[in-house]
Amino acid sequence: MLLEKVCSSELKDRNPELLRYQRQIILNEIGIEGQIRLRKSKVLLVGAGGLGSIVAYYLACSGIGYLGIVDPDIVEESNLQRQIIHTEENIGMPKAISAMIGLKKINSKINILPYPDEIKKENVFQYIEDYDLVVACPDNFNSRFILNDSCVKTGKPLVVGAVNEFEGHVFDVISPEGPCYNCLFEEARDEKLTRGIFAPVAGVIGAIQAAEALKILLNIGNFLKGRMIVYDALKESFREVKFLKNPACNVCKG
Ligand SMILES: [Zn+2]
Repeated sequence: MLLEKVCSSELKDRNPELLRYQRQIILNEIGIEGQIRLRKSKVLLVGAGGLGSIVAYYLACSGIGYLGIVDPDIVEESNLQRQIIHTEENIGMPKAISAMIGLKKINSKINILPYPDEIKKENVFQYIEDYDLVVACPDNFNSRFILNDSCVKTGKPLVVGAVNEFEGHVFDVISPEGPCYNCLFEEARDEKLTRGIFAPVAGVIGAIQAAEALKILLNIGNFLKGRMIVYDALKESFREVKFLKNPACNVCKG
């Protein structure tokens, strides 16, 4: 019924977006109002690698109005095994630019702002200030901690994902109500891990990150606030780890 209403030629003539997004507009939880909300939304994606490729695709397909992409690296051949937004012809190109090129082919109507830069303590606030929500997909702990610190300070929601070998995890930092990344991972601050990555794990975790970002923007459903989803591809299992604010956390102060 609503689909017919949404797809009536009169409405489609007035707004071609109704046709493009009809399958999500007919969802009661989204509707035209939700679609307009997504169109007005600004998301900063940090990291255009394995996770970021997936997040970027789903946010672009869903009609996010403004998508900023920060990544300091260039596309290398060894990235193509899992970083599916990049292509052979873009080897040698900054990942932020390569991602923009890929996304524009999918959705030319949205605004994509590439930043071939590294998130640091000195520049993070300049980057996040214009955005409603941040999705963290970097390949290192340091960037995740910098994003956590700045999002807690500014009260911006942060969707964190990480993958390693056959496992990945994802959760949301919604401050001041929920615990932050530092509440959970304080002792891992200086740890570096870059081993192998089983490509589909990035797909699974990235898709959950995209779902969380869209849900938070639309304010629908239950968020991964104080709940971390851990995916293990070898066991083919999901488990949920609940965690509370750490009263000793020096970022969100418990
Ligand atoms: Zn904390």
